[in-house]
Amino acid sequence: MNDFDIIIVGAGSAGCVLANRLSADPTRRVCLIEAGPPDRNPMIHMPFGLAAIAHMRWLNWGYETEPEPQLNHRRLFWPRGRVLGGSSSINAMIYMRGHPQDYHDWAKSAGEAWDWPHVRAIFKDLEANQALSDDHHGTTGPLTVSNLTQPNPLSRAFVQAGAECQYPVNPDFNGESQTGVGLYQVTQKNGRRFSAARAFLEPALNRPNLTLIPKAQVHRVLIEGRRAVGVSLATRDIRLREGGEVVLSGGAINSPQLLMLSGIGPGAELQAMGIPVLHDAPEVGANLADHLDITVQAALKGREAIGIAPTFLPRGMRAARAYLQHGKGEFTSNIAEAGGFVTSDPSRDRPNLQFHFIPAYLHDHGRRLSLGYGLTLHVCDLLPKSRGRISLASPDPMAPPRIAANYLSHPDDLPTLLDGLKIARRITQSPALARYIRQETLPGQHLVTDAQLEADIHARAETIYHPVGTCQMGHDPASVTDPEGRVRGVTGLRVVDASLMPQIIAGNTNAPTMMIAENIARMMLTRRA
Ligand SMILES: Cc1cc2nc3c(=O)[nH]c(=O)nc-3n(C[C@H](O)[C@H](O)[C@H](O)COP(=O)(O)OP(=O)(O)OC[C@H]3O[C@@H](n4cnc5c(N)ncnc54)[C@H](O)[C@@H]3O)c2cc1C
Repeated sequence: MNDFDIIIVGAGSAGCVLANRLSADPTRRVCLIEAGPPDRNPMIHMPFGLAAIAHMRWLNWGYETEPEPQLNHRRLFWPRGRVLGGSSSINAMIYMRGHPQDYHDWAKSAGEAWDWPHVRAIFKDLEANQALSDDHHGTTGPLTVSNLTQPNPLSRAFVQAGAECQYPVNPDFNGESQTGVGLYQVTQKNGRRFSAARAFLEPALNRPNLTLIPKAQVHRVLIEGRRAVGVSLATRDIRLREGGEVVLSGGAINSPQLLMLSGIGPGAELQAMGIPVLHDAPEVGANLADHLDITVQAALKGREAIGIAPTFLPRGMRAARAYLQHGKGEFTSNIAEAGGFVTSDPSRDRPNLQFHFIPAYLHDHGRRLSLGYGLTLHVCDLLPKSRGRISLASPDPMAPPRIAANYLSHPDDLPTLLDGLKIARRITQSPALARYIRQETLPGQHLVTDAQLEADIHARAETIYHPVGTCQMGHDPASVTDPEGRVRGVTGLRVVDASLMPQIIAGNTNAPTMMIAENIARMMLTRRA
């Protein structure tokens, strides 16, 4: 356990890509350490099982934010995967790269290697698209991307309703243009979830130079002088060979926490916790950005939705059989089947709102069951200006960190979400969807004025699960890492995961995180060669 060239902490979206790419070089001994268990639970692999995973605390860090001042001091639930595959094993599987302009912005902070032409090529290299094979897509990469096998008729009605509201129907959000409404493509293979663990880790597991240690939570990085030399677990240390590197891929909450537990972070705060300060870096944990989301919900006249009702039982049994026998049917649904991107503010250079349409009731992230047949239309602010922070609540590595998302702390963010809520409502009221709807249940028809809808946002808005940016990379010496993920102030230590993003992506964050890992793996391989 003392002679690894690379120790990767966290087998999530980024960690699995890194483990595969770095261990492809047989001269490199790679160790991958994951706090969670192997991904054996069938609910992980059956796409619709994601509704049940929210209840499974043993696969989920199940974080809570601090009371959010602009959200009526509510604590928000922040699920994160704690299992092989990380959040890619519990997410909604939507395959989305973001907008080219996102990466032009990244390039301003972190250089050309992060600009759209370069990262676009990496997205294509990683992708095995089963349905699209034009210039925008790859077809031979390790990550299978598919169309949904059986979208619900309500999801198609949502697309039609969007078109009735003059939004273009978009057959490919990762193609020519991101704008419009449509069905999402998903990271699924043969109707089953294709997590980062399945796409990248499984094919590498029999390599003799890759060691996987599941169910082991790293407590801190071991640093001697100013060089990382290994990591510390509850009962033992794992050390690097001379010249090796520790890579933190614990995600946007845990990677900054691990840096702080290791003495790299805001000096005064660490000192107050009794942690010796190795490198005073106030920006560790700062720059936290996330997509805040609000929903319109409606009760249906009929039974088209996926419902929790005795009448759904025969259909549910058929769905289970179709899934088990053929990898088809309603249980291959990723739940957030359709959606789209629109611009409510003409001064923006890219869409600032995203929809996720769910042909079911969904309350409290699936933790609260609602009887009956309904639909839920989510809308989130894609380009929020509010920023939050991860900080330590305790020097105990097993204690969760403090998450202060600071949603709506910037005055521009509430008007954007209000615009989104009104547009979402308009879509549900347009004929293609309205004909299915018995009654809007949320926000509720009695709420009509801006003041009422704003109060509803304060009372109900939730995360749509895209925290990023807490170990921001960049050329600026104030950023946590350089553009290759190397942590400033220490050698032999990188961060490679969603926390590197200098700005939040205008889209879902799983594929961009895998792209980050692939990009940095290539940099690491070329440096050594
Ligand atoms: C419910 C949900 C739905 C989502 N839906 C989508 C979607 O449909 N499409 C999309 O693009 N994105 C989606 N996302 C977001 C996307 O999945 C994440 O942005 C992405 O997976 C982040 O990757 P990561 O590598 O940064 O972190 P993660 O994938 O979270 O990986 C971090 C890993 O590190 C491990 N770890 C952390 N700390 C330690 C430690 N101290 N020691 C050992 N191991 C540790 C964790 O257990 C975890 O396995 C969703 C996220 C969630 C939670």
